[in-house]
Order: sequence, then structure tokens, then C-alpha cells
Amino acid sequence: MRGHIGLLRQGAKVIPFFPPDLFEADRQALLDLLYDVGTDEEQRFILGRRTAEFEDLLCRTTGAAHVIACSSGTGGLNLAVQALGIGPGDEVIVPAFCCQPVASSVANAGATPVFADVDPHTMVIDPDNVAELITDRTRAVMPAHIFSIMADMPRINKVARAHGIKVIEDAAVAQGAVLDGVPSGRWGDIGVFSLFQVKSFGTVGEGGVVLTDDATTAQAVRMLRNHGQDGVHRFLHHMVGQNNRFDEIIAAFQLHRHDGFAGRLERRARIADYYSERLVPLADRGVLAPPAGRNGRCYYVYALLVEQREELRAWLAEKGVGTHVYYPRPLPAQPAFSAFAPTGRDLPGARHASDHNLAIPIWPHLTDAQVEYVADSICEFFT
Ligand SMILES: *Cc1c(COP(=O)(O)O)cnc(C)c1O
Repeated sequence: MRGHIGLLRQGAKVIPFFPPDLFEADRQALLDLLYDVGTDEEQRFILGRRTAEFEDLLCRTTGAAHVIACSSGTGGLNLAVQALGIGPGDEVIVPAFCCQPVASSVANAGATPVFADVDPHTMVIDPDNVAELITDRTRAVMPAHIFSIMADMPRINKVARAHGIKVIEDAAVAQGAVLDGVPSGRWGDIGVFSLFQVKSFGTVGEGGVVLTDDATTAQAVRMLRNHGQDGVHRFLHHMVGQNNRFDEIIAAFQLHRHDGFAGRLERRARIADYYSERLVPLADRGVLAPPAGRNGRCYYVYALLVEQREELRAWLAEKGVGTHVYYPRPLPAQPAFSAFAPTGRDLPGARHASDHNLAIPIWPHLTDAQVEYVADSICEFFT
């Protein structure tokens, strides 16, 4: 990792957290696809043959028996909850520190999200706390992979099986990650990916994917995503469904971008390897780097836990390094979910994660010199 740092320092924000040129390399391809879909004789802009091809590709690459593309990761969770028949009177255990759809997908179905605490280092749901929260109303648990770390799926699945509850695996951020040889999205009864731009296989708009091996669940998800229709008889509504469909242009674009996906993931992982090498030694300075390695890692985001977060953040801004703080409040501390906030039970792991997480740039087209500059800038703060 060497380069000419001086050349990088051209503006206030030398290395943005969200790069403005994420899709630059695919610009012409996108314009061509837009034209192809727009002028196709079929005039089909949702759920056409490109969507089917994209679903088939993901069946092959993940090994899932059924892949159903939908309108977003949030939409995927909504479909998963509804397809499992979860509704009023039911409880679903979700992480207290997470993206809000883990809770809204449950609440919107009329069910109750029950917030479990997260591990204070990895920031993913704590399986022991999940086990403690199971009641006779619990229908499912919804672990989510967070930042660069997959949830402890072997233990979650064990707890779920012991109690006969379903696992909805929120793999929104972790497409392409593998834990113990099993791809993310394949651990739960249902898995969900997000194609939102910043996610591991993000795109130029909204998109999501539901994966399952169960044919009945898959059929329900397929019908629910398009107003409860079966795909054969138009205007015959078997179920009260949703508009949760997938866009043909996005399908075509993701098919085009899939070839480079593994390479981009590998580049992210190498950047993470380098950050870990440089930042793990800062543990005694109040900086906790995510556990290094490749098993169960996705590196969609590289988030540190930093005692002096605000000071380090300001320092890095000064240096032109963009950072991001995710979920500054645990979900039960959000006004929207106050009705579901636990009483008499603290969530110290979630609070700690909200107060101390700091994500640093890890997009795949960062140069070695930029990566080195980010690490140097962090280390400098502590010397
Ligand atoms: C992004 C995200 C979602 C939602 O995905 P969208 O495509 O943005 O709707 C759900 N869960 C987690 C953990 C996420 O990071």
C-alpha cells in the first residue's frame, strides 16, 4: 500500500464516505440497457424475462431453491413476514441496534417486534438474549448481518430449532458473504438481500431479493409481491398482497454487473485486511476494529467502535476523510417504536454501538494510497 498521498489532497473532502462515481465504469452499459428495455417490443418494465434471468442466476450462485426479486430489502422483509403468516398477537425477536425495517416489517404486519440486545463488539444480535426473550407467542427471530460481520447463525438456528420458531435472515448488507461454507441468505428459513446502492451488490436504485428453499413459502412470496396474483391469471387475487415488484432495468444492470461482483468483494476484503493490520493495535487507545478474517465477513461497511468518536470524526473530517455514523439511536429509542420499547430491561450493547460506531471508507475502487492515507490519518490522531 504505497502511493503519492500529496496528490490526493485536493479538496476539503479528499476521500468521501459515499463515492460519487460508484457506477462510473458502467455508465455506457447502463445507457445501453435503458435503451434496450425502453424500446423492447414487449414493453415490460417489471417482472419480465430479465428479472427471471436474474433470479435464476442467484439460484445458481447461492444454491437457493427459490429466489424472488422484489422492490427493496425492506420490501423483502415485509414479504417474508407476511408469507410466514405472522400477524396480530405474534412476536418476532429483532436486534435493537439495526436498520429500522427489522422492526417496521413486523409492526406493519400487526405483530410485535421484541428487541434483543447486540454483542458489544460485533454489534450483531446476541443469541443468548434471543433465547431469553422467547415466549409462547414468538413466531420468528430476525437476525441481521451488520456492517462487516454476519450474525452468529449457527447459534441462532439452534435456539430457533429448539423452540420451533422460524428464522428470517436479514442479509440485506451481506450478499456474497459466506459463513462455514454456507452463503449468507441461506441460513434462515427465508433470507433477504438489499440492492440499495451502498450494499454489497448495490445498484442504481431500489431492489431486493428473497431466498428460500421452501416451495410453499416461495409461492406465497411470489404472489404477495404482485397483489396476490399467481403470474398466470391476471386480476385473480388469491391473497391480499403488496406492490413489491422488481424493475427490468435494474435486473438487466445487475446481470451486467454480476461478473465483477466477486472481484469487488475481494477488493473490499483486502482493504479490510489492511485496516485490521493497522487498526487492531489501537485497542489500548479505545479503538475496537471488527474481528479480522474472511469467514462470516462481508465488509459492506468497516465500522470501528471508538471511545473518542466525535473527536476522531472531526479530526478525520479535517484530514479530508469522510466517515459515517450508523443508527445513532437504538431502535427502541426511536419515537416510532416507543410502544415496543422494553420496560425494566436495558440494552447496553445496542446503546454502546449507537454511541461509538464509526464507519470509514471501504468502497472497492479506493486506491491503495487512499486506503493507506485513511489508516495513517487514524493512527496520527493517537500519536
Ligand atoms: C439496508 C438494510 C435494509 C433495507 O434494505 P433497503 O433495500 O434499503 O430497503 C434492511 N436491513 C439492513 C440490516 C439493512 O442494512
